[in-house]
Amino acid sequence: MTLRGFVKKATGQDIYLCQACNDCDIGTREDMDIPLSSLVQLILLNDEEALQCRTLWSDSALEASRGACKRGLDLRAVMLALREESQRKAGG
Ligand code: SF4
Repeated sequence: MTLRGFVKKATGQDIYLCQACNDCDIGTREDMDIPLSSLVQLILLNDEEALQCRTLWSDSALEASRGACKRGLDLRAVMLALREESQRKAGG
């Protein structure tokens, strides 16, 4: 299954609806390596780097992801699902 397919199955969120408007871009905080909007783009590209970036584990990114998408994508649910998938793949 593709990463995008996994996200849809796990959260019901279709990242394909993302318009790349970057409204969810909260900037890069200390505990992030890429902006939240870039994490979304990695999912769109089915790039598994999304499971390894520090931003996925950033508390500030998770907090900011709540309601961050102006087009109604639940990015918080997406992040939580990706965290679980990352841990599953790491065998943890
Ligand atoms: S705000 Fe929503 S539609 Fe815009 S780039 Fe972020 S995820 Fe995509």
